[in-house]
Amino acid sequence: MELPELTVVIGLIVLAVAGLVALRWRTPTRIDDIEPAVTSQAGLGAALRRVWGQGPDEGTWQGLEEMLLAADVGVGTTERVIEGVREARPESFDEAREALAGQLMAELADRDRRLHLRGSPAVVLVVGVNGTGKTTTIAKLARHLMDEGRSVVLAAADTFRAAAGEQLTVWGERVGAPVVTGQQGGDPAAVAHDAVTSARAKGADVVLIDSAGRLHSKKDLMAELAKIHRVAGGDRGVDEVLLVIDATSGQNVLSQVSVFMEAVPVSGLVLTKLDGTARGGIVISVERELDVPVKLVGVGEGVDDLVPFAPRSFVESLLEV
Ligand code: GDP
Repeated sequence: MELPELTVVIGLIVLAVAGLVALRWRTPTRIDDIEPAVTSQAGLGAALRRVWGQGPDEGTWQGLEEMLLAADVGVGTTERVIEGVREARPESFDEAREALAGQLMAELADRDRRLHLRGSPAVVLVVGVNGTGKTTTIAKLARHLMDEGRSVVLAAADTFRAAAGEQLTVWGERVGAPVVTGQQGGDPAAVAHDAVTSARAKGADVVLIDSAGRLHSKKDLMAELAKIHRVAGGDRGVDEVLLVIDATSGQNVLSQVSVFMEAVPVSGLVLTKLDGTARGGIVISVERELDVPVKLVGVGEGVDDLVPFAPRSFVESLLEV
């Protein structure tokens, strides 16, 4: 090949590679594909190294128990995990760490963590105690779905707090999604219904519904959420009911969320504030106790700080030394 031809061929190859890179860069990432960068304060790996000492003895297992409980792994899970690690008969710190990783992975195995958004529009109801991060999570989820090329409508169905509607409206403007609001004190189910109707008229893909989370009037709240669920779902039902849980609230979170579990069929958990002082083990105990998969985790206040929950990366980050 002559030199000019060779230059042209090399030039074409460079252009093709650059094109591919650019295409990959611009292809919207599906929310299911995002690699999580979960941080945690648990430091289980370092704690394990401390309790390992000279090798396994009764003190080691007791230390392991204390460290798992301190990391919010929960009593039942801690017992199962320790039994599994003991049965593996680790002889070195590395073997113990590997056995512990295996046990924690097993606790998180066999769960469908994908979001199933099949309706047109798909309807997602977001529930949880006030202050856990519902509104922020809705904004983050809207951003992710829109990055994937889906159009989103937001519904401010917490008509009890005027600030809730205002906050969602601000987020809607920020991410570029229309927000359907109602009168303060109006019927939240009517807002959800209007949002679904508006989404259908626009041909929008997904409706994300914010809801109230005041716990002091448990019965009213349950009736309100059940009605939103019924009305927004119409004949084909709601696609996902996501329960938002603040990971920093520790083990008492379970008593707080029972009202939501009773009111609506929760299909996925979102653990927020895992970037803060949360002890990562809460993810495992909450999932086991509620028997609902953790689908997403919040790792910051920014609109991009929502990632799909990936057990392997999570356990690795928990066990960092
Ligand atoms: P809501 O009352 O359940 O709707 O909760 P908000 O969405 O208003 O959130 C309450 C507070 O938690 C706000 O200050 C948010 O910025 C903050 N927040 C929400 N998610 C996260 C998260 O993943 N990490 C951190 N650090 N803060 C969060």
